[in-house]
Amino acid sequence: MEKFDLNHEYFLEISQKCRYNERMAEWYRQMADEQFDFLYPLTQREESWRVHMNPEYRKMCTYSNRAHSIEFCMRDGWTSDYYRMHGVKILKGVNRCKDRFCYNCQSMDSLQRFHEYAPVIDRFAEKYEIYHVVFSQPNVPGFILDQTLDLMYKSFSRLVGFMSGKKKIKGLDLKGMYGFEGCVRALEVSQNDKDSYFHPHFHCMWVMKKGIDTTPKHRNMFSADRSHRREDRLFSDFEVFLQRIWYLLLNGIKVTKKNLEALPQIEGKRSYPDGFSCFAEPAKGKYHEVFKYATKGSFSNGSILNDYDCFKVLYKALYHRRVYQTYGCFYGIDMNELHDDGFSPGDLADMCFKELLEKLNSSETPVIVIESLIDILKVKIAEEDKGVKYISVLSIRRAFDEVPAELRPKLKEKIVSLIWDQCI
Ligand SMILES: [Zn+2]
Repeated sequence: MEKFDLNHEYFLEISQKCRYNERMAEWYRQMADEQFDFLYPLTQREESWRVHMNPEYRKMCTYSNRAHSIEFCMRDGWTSDYYRMHGVKILKGVNRCKDRFCYNCQSMDSLQRFHEYAPVIDRFAEKYEIYHVVFSQPNVPGFILDQTLDLMYKSFSRLVGFMSGKKKIKGLDLKGMYGFEGCVRALEVSQNDKDSYFHPHFHCMWVMKKGIDTTPKHRNMFSADRSHRREDRLFSDFEVFLQRIWYLLLNGIKVTKKNLEALPQIEGKRSYPDGFSCFAEPAKGKYHEVFKYATKGSFSNGSILNDYDCFKVLYKALYHRRVYQTYGCFYGIDMNELHDDGFSPGDLADMCFKELLEKLNSSETPVIVIESLIDILKVKIAEEDKGVKYISVLSIRRAFDEVPAELRPKLKEKIVSLIWDQCI
């Protein structure tokens, strides 16, 4: 039987992620302290109300508030409806900080984002082909991260202009070749452990016409896998085109047919005869990459951002920056936004959850329980054998995600009847 409840490991994992948050809180506090040091000389010569009116003072308060909320995120306020007779707790919510650097909040949001927006992309999958397209360029040191992101954002918009045919390249009909309809673009920034350089890149879902030739046939400087974990990768004509145009755009070189055929190199700089690293693959319903979060790379392999200075650089570079941007056929859809009542009537997992609630409510009136994470972990250890189940709409969705579509109706029946039979 697939797991559809939140087990001990789930809560344990959250408590482990809370430890990362302690470090983040410490760094936010350090930023507040620095701000205070910066303010201090002002207090000597200005009236205290002037200091309170000072935007720098407010910045200091923001950092301390962030430190506090990230530190206590998901530790308290786990609210559930407890159905004693059935031994079920239906989780309704928990205190969350929603900070961009909170490992817990970001992983939960990315699941929710997938649930809310994957169907939006799916809508185009019948008529068009969806491609997962990734754009990278050489890693950059922290002090130019912010400018690099600005340049990437601007270059990407220009690229969309060319793809959609709004901007023309003499002798090339890009719109006719690829039938680009629109895309979702998401930012991710990871970090190289060795030299602390940042690796900003875009994950995108591109909606294009069906039948583009994606035969891998070109070997180039991006083909080799340095870790030797896979065979050399060959690239399609389309990928080679992306590698070249991305290079031209980021280097401010005019995009012409001639320049795309033979990339002009910049004197005195390292040469990139094949452009910058990009690849494109049919997404086949797997949109997870685009719904990850901007700081995901900072948490990869169990590691965290290298140090406080890197945190500060990333904080400032991401400050007020929109992670998701939509173009063309996705116009008007803001994937930065999440809606809490993400219930979709057409979704089998959501229907299963609804039916479960109706059945429980028809036989028992629940009591509201509010617990801390520590409480839950203790209860889970003590009551594991008695089988009190913590269930949330997310846990049901996860169970459905893990089985093939044809088995889902059966899973729905199983879950509802199992909880029903569990009635003591
Ligand atoms: Zn959080």
